[in-house]
Amino acid sequence: TFRALVTDRNEHGVPTSSVRMLVDDDLPEGEVTVDVEWAGLNYKDGLCLTGRGGLVRSYPHVAGIDFAGTVRESGDGRYAKGDKVILTGWRVGEVHWGGYAERARVKADWLVPLPAGATTRWAMVLGTAGLTAMLAVNRLEASGVRPDGEPVMVTGAAGGVGSIVVGLLARLGYEVTALSGRPEHADMLKARGAREVLEREAFLAEPDKPLESARWAGVVDCVGGAVLGKLLRQVNYGGTVATLGNAGGIELETNVLPFILRGVTLAGIESVMQPYAARVEAWTRLVELFDATGYEPFVEEIGLADLPAAAEDILAGRVLGRRIVRV
Ligand code: NAP
Repeated sequence: TFRALVTDRNEHGVPTSSVRMLVDDDLPEGEVTVDVEWAGLNYKDGLCLTGRGGLVRSYPHVAGIDFAGTVRESGDGRYAKGDKVILTGWRVGEVHWGGYAERARVKADWLVPLPAGATTRWAMVLGTAGLTAMLAVNRLEASGVRPDGEPVMVTGAAGGVGSIVVGLLARLGYEVTALSGRPEHADMLKARGAREVLEREAFLAEPDKPLESARWAGVVDCVGGAVLGKLLRQVNYGGTVATLGNAGGIELETNVLPFILRGVTLAGIESVMQPYAARVEAWTRLVELFDATGYEPFVEEIGLADLPAAAEDILAGRVLGRRIVRV
C-alpha cells in the first residue's frame, strides 16, 4: 500500500481531498510505475484540487501535474528500475492520475530522465513552472531580444514561473524589471537579479493610450488580462512578448497599433504538450542556468496533507515562489 491525496466529491458535489491508503491495483494503466519523491504546486494544481476550471473529469482523482521520483517497475525499454525521472504536463494530474501520491503510473512517452547532476527535489523546485520559464526565455532569445541594456519586463514576478524567469533572465545578462502585486517581496526579487520592481496597481493606474512610450525590449507575461493589454502598448520596436499565463484573467483587450507600427510579436508559450526533445533541451539548460541555492528563499516544503490549504493559497495569489511537496 501507499499514501495518496485522493480528491473526491463530497455529498454536496464539492471536490475535497484527504490522505488515504491505496494499492497498486488502484493505479491507472501505464508502462512505468514511479516511486514519487517530490511533487510541485502550480496554479493549475489549485484548480484541479478545488474542482475549478473543469479540468478534472472523473472522481476519485489524484491531482499533481508534476512529479519526480525513481522508477519502480517499467514495461518500456527506455526506462529501468532505479532510473530517476521527471514528469510534467501531458494532462497528468488533470485527466490522468498525478503526483500527489507515493506511487504513480504513467506512459513512458510522458517522462524525461532527470538530467545528470540534478536531484528530484531540484526538479520539483522548478517543475512545470521552471520548464515554462525556460521555454519563455528561449523564445525571447529566438525572437532576437538581446541582453543589450534595454529593459525586459516579467509579470507575476513573485509567483512560481515569474520568480524563476527573473533569475534566468538576470543570469543571462538582461536588465530585468519585475511587476508584482506584492511589492513587499521586492528585495527578494532584487536579490534574484531584478533591477527594478514596479507595483501592479500603480502601473495599471497610469493613463492608457493606444500606443504608449516604448519601454520594453521583451516581456514574459504570467498574468494576462489588463496587464498584458497595457504592456503590449509599451513594447519597443521589434520587441517580443512571451505570453504564458492567465493568473490575472483570460481576456485580452488590445489594438493593432503595437503590431503594425512597431512590429511587436505576441508569442504563446505552452509547456504541457512540448515534444520530448524540447523538454530534454530545456531541462539541460536549466541545469546550467538556474541558481538553485540562490532561489531557496522562494521555496517552501509542504506535505500531502497541506495541499488543500495550499490550493486555496495559490489561487488567491498568496504563494511566494514555489511550494514543493515532500511526498
Ligand atoms: P503562481 O505561482 O500563482 O503565480 C502567479 C502570479 O501571478 C502570482 O504570484 C501573482 O504575482 C500574479 N497574480 C495572481 N493573481 C493576479 C491577479 N488577479 N492579477 C494580476 N496578477 C496576479 O502561478 P504559476 O504556477 O507561476 O503560474 C502562473 C501562470 O502561468 C498561471 O496562469 C498558470 O496557469 C500559467 N502557466 C502556464 C503554463 C503554460 O504552459 N503556458 C505553464 C505553467 C503555468 P505577484 O504577487 O508578483 O503579483
